[in-house]
Amino acid sequence: MQPRSLEWKEKEKLFVVTWQCGRITSFPLVFLRKNCPCATCKDASKEAKQKDPFKLLPSNPKDPDQAIRIDPVGRYAIRISWEDGHATGLYSFDVLKELSHKLDAENAH
Ligand SMILES: [Zn+2]
Repeated sequence: MQPRSLEWKEKEKLFVVTWQCGRITSFPLVFLRKNCPCATCKDASKEAKQKDPFKLLPSNPKDPDQAIRIDPVGRYAIRISWEDGHATGLYSFDVLKELSHKLDAENAH
């Protein structure tokens, strides 16, 4: 599923996706960083959960919430380069779609 448009609101630290259906999702950048789909980040959160499945992952105040670049990758993904140099996370539009549901669920609480 390809979004209709993508917008990076640098000042607001938001990445706004307009989907084909007209729905709009405003991703806080810190949320995208927390859900970085790269192998390193995924393993880190999986490991922490395996040690203690009931442990809530602490929100790291050092988590950068500022991107220095957001680049399109082909017609299927974006790559976000963070201010701490981390840039291996490839957010495919499928991943963004999944994350938009997760964001909705989190906001519902
Ligand atoms: Zn990562």
